[in-house]
Amino acid sequence: MPWQTRPDTGRKSHAAPLPLASTAPTFQPLAVLAPWDHGPNSAARPCRWQKNGCPEPTAASTVKSVAVQLTILGSGSGGNCAYLETEQTRLLIDAGFSPRQIRLRLAQIGRAPENLHGILVTHEHTDHIAGLAGLAGKLGLPIYCNRATAEEVQRYHGMTFDCRLFTTGATFKIGDLVIETFSLPHDAQDPVGFVLRTPAGRIAFATDLGHFTRLVADRVRQARVLVLETNHDLRMLQECPHRPWSLKQRILSRHGHLSNEAAAEGFEQVVTEELQHLYLAHLSRDCNRPELALATLQQRIDRVGAKHVKLVVTSQDQPCAPLIL
Ligand SMILES: [Zn+2]
Ligand SMILES: [Zn+2]
Repeated sequence: MPWQTRPDTGRKSHAAPLPLASTAPTFQPLAVLAPWDHGPNSAARPCRWQKNGCPEPTAASTVKSVAVQLTILGSGSGGNCAYLETEQTRLLIDAGFSPRQIRLRLAQIGRAPENLHGILVTHEHTDHIAGLAGLAGKLGLPIYCNRATAEEVQRYHGMTFDCRLFTTGATFKIGDLVIETFSLPHDAQDPVGFVLRTPAGRIAFATDLGHFTRLVADRVRQARVLVLETNHDLRMLQECPHRPWSLKQRILSRHGHLSNEAAAEGFEQVVTEELQHLYLAHLSRDCNRPELALATLQQRIDRVGAKHVKLVVTSQDQPCAPLIL
């Protein structure tokens, strides 16, 4: 297949600090939403920067603007968190580590939780929400999720969050980001994936899914960056002595997690010349190894002739290098 790498867009990083007050993003639902999703003024509800007066960032948390930056702060069965920054918007996607860990990992890239505008939440499993109380709760950050997830998250943490609700399948806007949501087959209340339409292209998140549905394929196709689950190696999972059979069945089910091989099949369905970066995410500590996931996907890349796709395997223990788009 004659793949062509997309020519460089010529986007450059900016050196100036972000003027937070003038760039505070607002939440704008773009699709028709159910009445319970938003209060009468929710679309116009000011974000916390506007509401409380915009705090000046401290020296330690001063951020330099970049066009679009994605950093996977960590990913695996024990915790998931990613950071996305555009000129106007700074978000986490999930917060599955302790607040201290998330703060430390943000600090490694010169960022701080105080400069975030919100947290997108895929679903209520603890490896995605463990840090929410200490971050969103403490700092008053809004969390963006559907109603079923909001209920579970609030029950788990025993507190009320500033939830900005969307209906699964809806598209909404935060600052200069347009966010598409889509349903994932996974054993949570209402799990979702995200496609973040940034000025530098689409960034798609598809982790925690038992199989690769046509809907998932349709939504993540055309992505420039794809964060895709490669949870387990089938043989390692079957032979793993630390997992009871019932848990193995759950992981292998159509609402469990994607194996390396299933991820490769899904990748083949959606790869286009647009796709430049493929992150292998949510690896099981006991039932997978980075080299196995990499080898499986690299073989598939070679087989379909998609040599323009760069592979990165994520780690639960440390952030990936920031990707500047
Ligand atoms: Zn999950
Ligand atoms: Zn998970």
